[in-house]
Amino acid sequence: MRIFDPHIHMTSRTTDDYEAMYAAGVRAVVEPAFWLGQPRTNAATFIDYFDSLIGWERYRASQFGIAHNCTIALNPKEANDSRCRPILDHVPRYLSKTGVVAVGEIGYDCMTAEETEAFEIQLEMAAERGLPALVHTPHRDKLSGTLASIDVVHRVGIDPGLVLLDHLNEVTIQPAVESGCWAGFSIYPDTKMDEARMVALMQRYGLERILVNSAADWGRSDPLKTAKTARAMLAASFTEDDVDRVMWRNPVEFYGQSGQLRLMSEDTAGAFAGNTIHRGERR
Ligand SMILES: [Zn+2]
Repeated sequence: MRIFDPHIHMTSRTTDDYEAMYAAGVRAVVEPAFWLGQPRTNAATFIDYFDSLIGWERYRASQFGIAHNCTIALNPKEANDSRCRPILDHVPRYLSKTGVVAVGEIGYDCMTAEETEAFEIQLEMAAERGLPALVHTPHRDKLSGTLASIDVVHRVGIDPGLVLLDHLNEVTIQPAVESGCWAGFSIYPDTKMDEARMVALMQRYGLERILVNSAADWGRSDPLKTAKTARAMLAASFTEDDVDRVMWRNPVEFYGQSGQLRLMSEDTAGAFAGNTIHRGERR
């Protein structure tokens, strides 16, 4: 079983987690830029963080045989802090780098006017470059936040096939699927979404444009939730090919649209030519 975790915050995880993920079949990840818990007080601290996502964390993952990619953005929560906003001027220069596979996480936290503005500006950056965008749907008012996010997608005019609406659930999947966007689900140990509910959603809605992740952030979370969901799929009579589609080929197809996706960790050392998945290529 090969697994691609399309949304996991490895910055908050230990080397034991990397080892356990590799043993469970995880070979590639996308780590979205997010809020680090402690509020940032100036834009320069984002630059160090973004550099660590494309540098140090990629190297750390490579030590465990895992290809590390990331997304770059001003996150929704800190879009509300005027001290952080100047980072928007620096986001574009990261978007053409190998291993930067989307603009994200963008979207809504508290659904303020400041969040809408940062969301639109950054979604336009993705549209202009033909890059995927990772949209975080809010944990409170999830339905209205998801609907408002879809409105922004329509307003900006980006191809919905380039947009991943993430952290969905039973209430928000229907509008997400109808929008033509990709649908992402974060599987947690005891909140939000679990393996059994995820399997039930796949039985009902199919596997097209569905992504499953473990999120694995600062809260109680489990970086093996992708593998556990894969096992729950097999127990529910999905095939090995179905599992490969959801856990590998779907995320490769979505993030491969960037032309900057890396699927082998070794190219950190420049050892593998031809590692990057170019636009239109399938693996
Ligand atoms: Zn996240």
